[in-house]
Amino acid sequence: MPFPIRADSPVTHAATLPAACDVAVIGGGVIGVMTALFLARAGQKVVLLDKGRIAGEQSSRNWGWIRQQGRDPAELPMMIEARRIWQDLAAEVGPGLGYRQAGVMYLAGSEAQAAKYEGWLPHAAAHGIDTRMLSRAEMQAMVPNAAGWTAALWTASDGQAEPWAAVPLLARLAADAGVMIREACAVRALDMAAGRVAGVVTEAGRIACGRVVLAGGAWSGLFARAHGVHLPQLSVRSTVAATQVLPEVFPGAASDKSFAFRRRADGRYTLAPGSFHEFFIGPDAFRHLRAFIPQIRADISGTRFLPLAPKGYPDAWTTPRKWDASRPGPFEALRVLDPAPNARIVEQIRAKFAAAFPSLGAVRIDCAWAGMIDTMPDVVPVIDHAAAVPGLTIATGMSGHGFGIGPGVGRVVADLVQGKGPGHDLSRFRLTRFADGSPITIGPSL
Ligand SMILES: Cc1cc2nc3c(=O)[nH]c(=O)nc-3n(C[C@H](O)[C@H](O)[C@H](O)COP(=O)(O)OP(=O)(O)OC[C@H]3O[C@@H](n4cnc5c(N)ncnc54)[C@H](O)[C@@H]3O)c2cc1C
Repeated sequence: MPFPIRADSPVTHAATLPAACDVAVIGGGVIGVMTALFLARAGQKVVLLDKGRIAGEQSSRNWGWIRQQGRDPAELPMMIEARRIWQDLAAEVGPGLGYRQAGVMYLAGSEAQAAKYEGWLPHAAAHGIDTRMLSRAEMQAMVPNAAGWTAALWTASDGQAEPWAAVPLLARLAADAGVMIREACAVRALDMAAGRVAGVVTEAGRIACGRVVLAGGAWSGLFARAHGVHLPQLSVRSTVAATQVLPEVFPGAASDKSFAFRRRADGRYTLAPGSFHEFFIGPDAFRHLRAFIPQIRADISGTRFLPLAPKGYPDAWTTPRKWDASRPGPFEALRVLDPAPNARIVEQIRAKFAAAFPSLGAVRIDCAWAGMIDTMPDVVPVIDHAAAVPGLTIATGMSGHGFGIGPGVGRVVADLVQGKGPGHDLSRFRLTRFADGSPITIGPSL
């Protein structure tokens, strides 16, 4: 089974670009799509541009978990809202989204792990979330073959959706709401006039607009830097696989330290390593090293370092940091960031899953892929106006958990762009935290 969204997939959205719009959104992942949808529903004239395909990058490649469990407390109000929006979207779009509330479980293999999970419970209680610890017996009643795990953290109200089906369907909803979507159309630069945003320069021409949203996922740092905005973002490669269709052992999503699995709507399981990822060392690794020291100190045991990013990657050594917007630049040079999966990891997660659930018999891998996860030093996103570039709003750096919260972020960003109150405290997500001497604080996210 080939991965469904690739650089050679047919273009679905090819709107004729207007000379002017109210808001241009850069990036057709879940953040850009949801922002555009909310803006259009508020009566704004919106253009959504993606250099490759809608959901071609992280938004189709993720595990599909929609979780409140384990998040940084500052994200919880927006995540609780996002969960409500997912329910509304599912009612509107139908079963194609694959949204269902089947729960998220973190399996503990030791008392120490269980104690760590238990430490998150006060955050759930403070926000009225139904997270609780399961005893071994309770857990085994839900995950019958779970020999070896001693306890679990469990949120019944958490859910999941099918990423590569859901985000294109949400883009269709946005198009139906009036968003002009154009795939295979890179934004090369902001068009600046009198010190503020006057439009975007795309490979298909200029669009005049006073407001731009940067939701470029792993490319946002590169784009921001070209406009003098400091966004210390790095990306890691994360490998994922899907099994053949198998009987159900547990309807939800679960992980222990060594592997994660989710029962999919098509009867397969999405498998992934629990917390392993690979980091390609490029110039930004040195540029942002200081900001990432707290993360390195906290835990780098799950990170494998590789010397060179493949050609064309946002932080490859040969990727230009400055370019002439009248010519094709780095965003056109790599339409879809489609990293090769690590074959050794694919085999490891297959074997671990098969060993944990022997009743399934032989487990085969039908499809393997990888994604570049964009992350910030404190593992929470940037959702803010860029003060140095009036007219630019940044929504990026979702740090490996932006799919579930995406609809909430989209609603918030749409309101920010329109000058309305966002409805939640966004101070933890401010852009200036990386430049004003604030300590980098990694939250109690699990
Ligand atoms: C393996 C993996 C597992 C994950 N698991 C989960 C999970 O279970 N739950 C969860 O909540 N999150 C998960 N995540 C994280 C989640 O997928 C991301 O946080 C989320 O999809 C980010 O969305 P985005 O819109 O910011 O970025 P993306 O989906 O990466 O989209 C950015 C888009 O911007 C476009 N773009 C960039 N620059 C330009 C430009 N100059 N011009 C035009 N277009 C441009 C790109 O082509 C791309 O399509 C996972 C991620 C990965 C990779």
